Amino acid sequence: MRLAVAMRVRLLGTGSAEGWPSPWCSCASCRATGRAGVLRASTSALVDGRLLLELGPDAPRAAVRAGTDLTGVEAVLVTHAHPDHFHWPAWMWRGWAAGNRPVVLVAPPAVLEVAAPHLDPTVTTVAAEPGGRYDVAGYEVRAVPATHAGPEAGPAVLYDLTGPDGARLLWATDTGVLGERALELVAGRAYDAVLLDLTGAHLPLHHDLATWPDQVAELRRRGAVVDATAVHAVHLGHDNPPPPELDAVLAGWGATAPRDGDVLVVGDGPGASRQQAGRVLVLGGARSGKSAYAEQRLAAEPAVTYVATAPPREDDGEWAARVQAHVRRRPAAWSTVETGDVTGLLATSPTPLLVDDLGLWLVRAVDDAGAWEGPLEAVTAACDDLVAAWRSCRGTVVLVAPEVGSGVVPATASGRRFRDLLGALTLRLAAESDEVVQVVAGLPRRLR
Ligand SMILES: [Zn+2]
Ligand SMILES: [Zn+2]
Repeated sequence: MRLAVAMRVRLLGTGSAEGWPSPWCSCASCRATGRAGVLRASTSALVDGRLLLELGPDAPRAAVRAGTDLTGVEAVLVTHAHPDHFHWPAWMWRGWAAGNRPVVLVAPPAVLEVAAPHLDPTVTTVAAEPGGRYDVAGYEVRAVPATHAGPEAGPAVLYDLTGPDGARLLWATDTGVLGERALELVAGRAYDAVLLDLTGAHLPLHHDLATWPDQVAELRRRGAVVDATAVHAVHLGHDNPPPPELDAVLAGWGATAPRDGDVLVVGDGPGASRQQAGRVLVLGGARSGKSAYAEQRLAAEPAVTYVATAPPREDDGEWAARVQAHVRRRPAAWSTVETGDVTGLLATSPTPLLVDDLGLWLVRAVDDAGAWEGPLEAVTAACDDLVAAWRSCRGTVVLVAPEVGSGVVPATASGRRFRDLLGALTLRLAAESDEVVQVVAGLPRRLR
């Protein structure tokens, strides 16, 4: 294992270009974020006090507000010429201070062109080209092509940064879904930390909550993100849900949204291994968004087995269309198994499972036992086996369960039997779950 001495990454800003809350906006996300006092300026970071990542308009003052300054900065790394990342007057103002030490500006050609008239003789420049490698102030800097600005502002790059003692960081803002060349460059890098654009909108030049976990999953498949990698979202904007909701979504992926001023300690020896989600029971009524939530929960996994418990119903067009919509929503790296043997899969499956859903599993079990009326022993035994398998399951599994007990009392005896069996089974499974989430109107509410 690569032992690294930590890099200290002070986040001067974690927000999108306009910041979050946007001063010009009254949306629910901006209002809630403002009320919570989570103010995000444009994204920038100070590494070990020596490297400044992005020099937008907010960064210098954010450094001072954080109780530090930029006098120790030996290199400034800029990813592209958009004004939240590169604010040329900052160079003029730097020039007004006496006794500046030499500094290196690493940036794509478009940035250097704009900067040139404002740089004093203490500044030397390095033109960053996608795929290039540079030694800067004792750090190894690799430029990775971003999916963002063209030649007019870049071409935009991301920075792969290795510290003097081996700690390694991927600074991945601004970017949409990475192209093949970028993925090849980051493959196998096993970063200690990845900071990835989650603007929340403006695709394909940025990420949102749908593409972000897919990208993390892809980085895992490529060996760029490993179990010890700390994954963070930055460049956050108001198209994301407000802080507690966003924090919960990211936590489900083993990631965080650090705040402005936070210090990330990157690469302090062998990292803590990624927390497994364990057994997650997702409850919800019909059309509550429970299946979409369950899929989102596992979206950052490199591979998932989707377990469809419904028997295929080829004669039913509406049903087939609904199943197809589910299949389309799932990433290519997911495999689908259609089976009623959830108990067996819980004991043996190596990949995370998404089981959708418990109601259809129960329908099958009752069908198989011929128990819509008469004795229930066989169904009870199947339920006992399922609960036992759930209790001893060690992997990550998300189980979707419909809530059928809140509506009118079913008119038929078999309907009442199904409702009672499902209610009792759900109760037993909930007691053995690591996490229980209820989805109402598309919003998850954590019950345990
Ligand atoms: Zn930006
Ligand atoms: Zn940009």
